[in-house]
Order: sequence, then structure tokens, then C-alpha cells
Amino acid sequence: MKKTPFVTLEQVQEISKQYPTPYYLYEEAGIRSNARRLKQAFSWNKGFKEYFAVKATPNPFILKILQEEGCGVDCSSLTELCMAKALGFYGEEIKFSSNTTPAEEFVYAHKQNALINLDDFTHLAFLEKHLGALPETLCFRFNPGGLFSINNQIMDNPKEAKFGMTQEQIFEALRFAKQKGVKRFGLHSFLASNTLTNAYYPKLAEILFSLAAQIKNSLGIVIDFINLSGGIGIPYHPDESENDIFSIAEGIKKHYQDILIPAGLGGISLFTELGRYMLAPYGALITQTIHEKHIYKEYIGCDACAVNLMRPAMYKAYHHITVLGKENAPCDHLYDITGSLCENNDKFAIDRMLPKIDLGDYLFIHDTGAHGFAMGYNYNGKLRSAELLLQADGQVQLIRRAETIKDYFATFDFTELLTPDTYL
Ligand SMILES: *Cc1c(COP(=O)(O)O)cnc(C)c1O
Repeated sequence: MKKTPFVTLEQVQEISKQYPTPYYLYEEAGIRSNARRLKQAFSWNKGFKEYFAVKATPNPFILKILQEEGCGVDCSSLTELCMAKALGFYGEEIKFSSNTTPAEEFVYAHKQNALINLDDFTHLAFLEKHLGALPETLCFRFNPGGLFSINNQIMDNPKEAKFGMTQEQIFEALRFAKQKGVKRFGLHSFLASNTLTNAYYPKLAEILFSLAAQIKNSLGIVIDFINLSGGIGIPYHPDESENDIFSIAEGIKKHYQDILIPAGLGGISLFTELGRYMLAPYGALITQTIHEKHIYKEYIGCDACAVNLMRPAMYKAYHHITVLGKENAPCDHLYDITGSLCENNDKFAIDRMLPKIDLGDYLFIHDTGAHGFAMGYNYNGKLRSAELLLQADGQVQLIRRAETIKDYFATFDFTELLTPDTYL
């Protein structure tokens, strides 16, 4: 899929006058139209709802946009639950999907009336102990074990994953929960990340639909909703092609008609918890080149580093880079694009063919709208960047200011020892 930046060099030059690089820039129009596409693709399912995985892009302004588009939120921690509450999400607009969960997080989620997704069988007793009683609605995370494959291609290895419960445990959990007065039940599973095949969601749906039919048969329990979680990928590399959300939804519909409807389960609502698919293409890390270095290889140093975007260092992930203003120039120079960390893996690109780069050029690092800023950290005393929103009307809004040295020092009582001119 051809990679085209959603801003021009002139726009970035203008924005950078007010907000120095590096910064994240998100595109409101793209976020909205994609969310609408998803909703339309699943419009055949009456109860369909996307619960955006907050961890992918935990910015309240972004969540607000998705809220306006009818999405709920999928939270994985107390902080994310607090953010959801602050934005006015309540009750079944919030899902709480966590593992190795501290008691106070369950208590807080329950206080918000959130839909709780249980990662383990033993959490039933844990919940009962800490909440006093089980909630009326509960969801259970399934781990089918073994290897998960599509068309003989291994996608992941659920047996090695720490998440979810076995089928026997799911049955036992449902039986126990029903006996304890739980009234509504959901199923959840997450088997592969960043999938670039329209077959992933339908395959997962088939597994969960069959499970729901079996549950009805042997326990007489009617499942209320099925949560397909996250995992739909995006083409990070220009050679990869895009998923088609309409054929994904059609594939699921077919299994719904073949498995759920004959089982008398035609009322089941489908939920998704997409993160990457909702946001990744609609965010970019913008950084300016500040050094070039010619040793055994050609290096371009920029003002962002791995603390701003960890994926290349952590997963060797490919992120396409456009040198703004040189979109049509030939890619006839071989570079490593680096940040300033004292770590040799601090490279946004290795052996990448790009147009000739001059100092001061702006780089647009594509597809960083999800799991980008969110995975930031402070190694080497580096600070988190600002996040900006390119609004649908063309205006740019600061949606998170850049961290300052003062923020860095805020967690220990050191600030007092510093004279004001020690930090900027
Ligand atoms: C991370 C996560 C998601 C979102 O995953 P994406 O790959 O961003 O779609 C959804 N649900 C759960 C439980 C997760 O942990």
C-alpha cells in the first residue's frame, strides 16, 4: 500500500514554529472515517460495539473523538479507567480487560459498572472476595491452547501465552458464576496481533461461536456477547496490502449465520477492542534531522529517539519514513536513521533507501498513531514529546504538551534543590 503523509512540508514547517520537534501528529478526519467504516461493516449485528483499546493511544482528546463516533473504551489499568471516567464513559461503555489484576482495580472497575473480562478461573473467587458479590455481567477470556493457524500458516502459539483460561475452566467458570447469580455472560479471546489477513477475525469468530453453541448445549447458558478483541493489523510496509474490513465482517457474518443462528443464539452482540487498526495509520512521529555521520555506514541523527517510538528497537518493527518535501525524489541514498540514546538499537530505520537527506529536513515516521507515544519512556533522561491533533478543519490543537525536566523531577523531592535556571 502506497504510503502518503497526511501533511505537507509547508504544514509541518508552520506547525513546528509553534511546537518544536519531535512531536506526534494525529489526523482527526482519518480517525473518524475509519471508525465509521468499521461501524458500517458490522451494521448487520444489532449490538455491535467497538471498545477502543486505550493502551494503544491513551490521549483523552483522541478518546473523545472515538466516543463521538460511538465507540466505548477497553481499559487495562486503574489509570486508564480513571481516564475513561473523566471523559464520561460509564457502565457498559467501559470494558475492563486485565490480567494479574490488583484488587483495587477490580473494585474501581466495578464501581464504574464496567464490563469485567476475567483472565482466569481463580479470579472469580478473588472478585467475590473483593467486591462482596459477583457482578451481574461477566466476560471470560478463552485460551484454546495449542498452535493457532490459518490456512496452515502458524499465527501464534496460545499454549505459551499467559492469557485466558482453558475450555474446561471456561465451562467451570460459567457454571460457578451462574450458580452465584451472574445473569449475563460474554466470551473473549485474543489469538494474534497485527494480523494482515482478512481470515483472522472470521477464524477467531468461528472458534468462539462454536464454543458458545457448545456452552448452550451442555450448560443451557445463553451467551450474551462475544468479544473478538484486538489484532487486526495495518500494512506498515508499502509492499503489504491493507485488510478489508468489509470482507472481514462478511466472513464473520457467514459463521454467525452457520453456527449461532441454528443454535438459537442469533441475539449475540459482537464487540471488538481494536487499537492498532483504529489509530496507527492516523498518527505520525515528526522529527527533524540534526546530524549526519559518515563512518562505516551513513547515519542521519534526528531529534526523536526510541523513547518516543519504541517499536523499531523493541520488535525490529518497520515504520515507513517520508522525507517531507522530497516525496517524489529518487530513493538513491542508503541510511541508518538514529536517535540519541546510548543504545545501538536506537534506530528508526536500518539500511533504508531514502532521498538525499539534508540537515533540517523533517521526517514523517508513518503509522505511529497506535502503540507509539503510548510505549514511551524516560531512559537517558529523555522526555516525552507533545501530541498534536490536525483537526478536520485544518487547525492544529495541542492535545498533550511535551514533558519538561520539571516533570521528570516531579517524583522525587529534588526540585527544591534546583535553581530555576537548572531547568529550562
Ligand atoms: C492490546 C490489546 C488490544 C488491542 O490490540 P491491537 O493489536 O492494538 O488491536 C485489545 N484487547 C486486549 C485485551 C489487548 O491487550
